[in-house]
Amino acid sequence: MRPDSARPRRRRVWDVKLLPLPPQGQTPVRVLTIAGTDSGGGAGIQADSRTMALCGVHACVAVAAVTVQNSVGVSGFHEIPPQIVADQVRSVVGDIGIDAAKTGMLASTAIIESVARVCREVGIGRDGTIPLVVDPVAASMHGDPLLHAEALDAVRHTLIPLATVVTPNLDEVRLITGITVTDDGSARRAAEALHALGAQWAIVKGGHLRASEVSTDLLFDGERFLEFTAPRIGTGNDHGGGDTLAAAIACALANGYSVPDAVDFAKEWTYRCLAASYDLGAGHGPVSPLWRLTDRDG
Ligand code: PLP
Repeated sequence: MRPDSARPRRRRVWDVKLLPLPPQGQTPVRVLTIAGTDSGGGAGIQADSRTMALCGVHACVAVAAVTVQNSVGVSGFHEIPPQIVADQVRSVVGDIGIDAAKTGMLASTAIIESVARVCREVGIGRDGTIPLVVDPVAASMHGDPLLHAEALDAVRHTLIPLATVVTPNLDEVRLITGITVTDDGSARRAAEALHALGAQWAIVKGGHLRASEVSTDLLFDGERFLEFTAPRIGTGNDHGGGDTLAAAIACALANGYSVPDAVDFAKEWTYRCLAASYDLGAGHGPVSPLWRLTDRDG
């Protein structure tokens, strides 16, 4: 993280921050992901759960959609009835209790409205006691739709106003705000537009600005712009990168981090996961948090 005027801090790649692992037998902090499954195991709930486990967090899941997916694309999806999605959230919060939540693929207006209703009911979201990371998933990296086009209004006016932090990629920024981000000025305008929709904090992720040598994410809370920069990694294996960043933010928030500190941690976590990505199938392989199993020095 750096304030507007400060110079970016140079970070050694081995100097990564880690969240504390719980002692064996001790109940870890809990994060709930409300999202879609990926049968190929690269993105969605599978990416969320992997990052949560390797951040020492117990992952709870409310499945909103089941995708038929492999490394070359998404060939279909099945939506879970909106009431069942909400019931999963209610069931988990009422018994297990959660320290943060995250939304990913929600597919339809009806699911978004049902999720928003239950989040308000149980205190998830910027006005509640449980922070909420909203990853407004609209399409896969191959361009396959994961959200009905008519649901964009619900994303804008029902989901984003609940967000402690919203984490769109540049395609999602364009769909939600109409702003095409090409440089710092348009990134700032987009962050302002996302904040104006009601998110407490908005991130505009620069990872898809491929002309740039670094990947800079911009975070805005209505007053401060903060920048987070990591070296760009030239890998075709970046499936699930957005989910991983949003899940890592949720894990850090669950550990009591402020939003800027959570984003700082998650940016570095995702950089490490990109560096550890691997080939899988004939298409795009996944980013991988498995490095934490072998890289004891972090
Ligand atoms: N499938 C599911 C279920 C997702 O939630 C997402 C992204 O959030 C994707 C696929 C797309 O991931 P990517 O853009 O990394 O391919």
